[in-house]
Amino acid sequence: HIPVLCVDGPTASGKGTLASQVAHRLGYHYLDSGALYRITGHAAVHAGLSLDVAHEHTIARMAETLPIVFHADRVLLDGVDVTDAIRTEEAGMNASKVSALPAVRTALVALQQSFRKLPGLVADGRDMGTVIFPDAPLKVYLTASAAQRAERRYKQLISKGIPATLPALRADLEARDARDSNRAVAPLKPAEDALLLDNSGQSVEESVAQVLKWWDE
Ligand code: C5P
Repeated sequence: HIPVLCVDGPTASGKGTLASQVAHRLGYHYLDSGALYRITGHAAVHAGLSLDVAHEHTIARMAETLPIVFHADRVLLDGVDVTDAIRTEEAGMNASKVSALPAVRTALVALQQSFRKLPGLVADGRDMGTVIFPDAPLKVYLTASAAQRAERRYKQLISKGIPATLPALRADLEARDARDSNRAVAPLKPAEDALLLDNSGQSVEESVAQVLKWWDE
């Protein structure tokens, strides 16, 4: 049985950093499920589709047959490097829109589960523990205050030379969390057997150490 460790939580809670470092430490594969929704949103916008129920099934078909290649830390969509394009705030908002469409979520299930390979997987997202890998032996639900999350995102963007303002970022992430939490299918919430980790006052090393300790127990 191939082990899976799930890390779920809201936008900018630090899931990506935590999950990829834990994967690295364990020598496991890493699934960034948000990237799949970001790529789907990107592909749909490029196809000129509005990201709503009117195109739900067309977008789902696109999601099912996404021509993506993960190579080193780049993502190629149909041979085009979309790594940076899918990281903008707008791409995050578009991902949140397509991810609220039930057919799109269903279309991405098999692809996500195919990342479960030996020696193991660390999966990062919103519904890894509740929907995609319900039998995972460890599910971590990561949180941090909205103020902290906005602050972290702000520093990230500024350090990359991307213009940003704190109030706009915070409004954006709160809007995204509200949509993710209130959607009908796979709403953002901790799995019943998830362990909660609030990393507001923690360094990355401290959260990584906590998760590895839980994994060993
Ligand atoms: O984690 P990230 O910010 O990259 O995810 C982008 C969006 O994709 C989220 O706001 C959420 O709406 C959606 N998502 C999801 N389920 C996942 C991962 C991401 O609905 N497992």
